[in-house]
Amino acid sequence: MAQLCFFAGTMDCGKSTLALQMDHNHRARGLVGVIFTRLDRSGEARLSSRLGLSTEAVEVGEDLDFWETTVAQLSAGARVDYLICDEAQFYTPEQVEQLARIVDELDIEVFAFGITSDFRTELFPGSRRLIELADSTQVLQVAALCWCGRRATHNARVVDGVMVVEGEQVVIGDTAEPVEQGEVEYEVLCRRHHMRRMSSTSAHAAALSADVLPFDLNACPVPPPV
Ligand SMILES: [Zn+2]
Repeated sequence: MAQLCFFAGTMDCGKSTLALQMDHNHRARGLVGVIFTRLDRSGEARLSSRLGLSTEAVEVGEDLDFWETTVAQLSAGARVDYLICDEAQFYTPEQVEQLARIVDELDIEVFAFGITSDFRTELFPGSRRLIELADSTQVLQVAALCWCGRRATHNARVVDGVMVVEGEQVVIGDTAEPVEQGEVEYEVLCRRHHMRRMSSTSAHAAALSADVLPFDLNACPVPPPV
């Protein structure tokens, strides 16, 4: 029986690489799948990993209906054994529900990959719905490390070198397109340093200016509640 499997992680945890590997393994067994992604770092309808691998993919616009698209493909005589859905945090809750229906009514495997929480530590809507509906949710533990050496569990947004915890949920950094509100980068941090808003840059600056170790948490007290 087909399943809806959600592979969740932080940025830089190797999700897209695993998605590509999953596709390769299934194809090697003679199965046929369709790959979907949204707002991939390459800026086009491709699934690409930081390791430089990539493959063609279908871009998931807000209006894409997974159910209708898949039913249309089957009706046209195409074979579909599985779907690989990358950047699933950006899907709408309705699109995640369509994926669940595809599993249940068409018996097609769906492997979804996504970041669980955003730079404010709040769940993305797509990931929330996946956690609610998936047959299994697997948290990817890859060796992404905070600058302090602890396991990096949270995503930080850094705008012009300063870590921010407010703003639009989705701003794509690390791509060719310049963004209006400043240079946006993302960095993965441990929870301790996310809560204290210490990115690698601010930790380095604190160490230089106050002549203290960045591990001295008093160098950057927890900001007061907004
Ligand atoms: Zn840390």
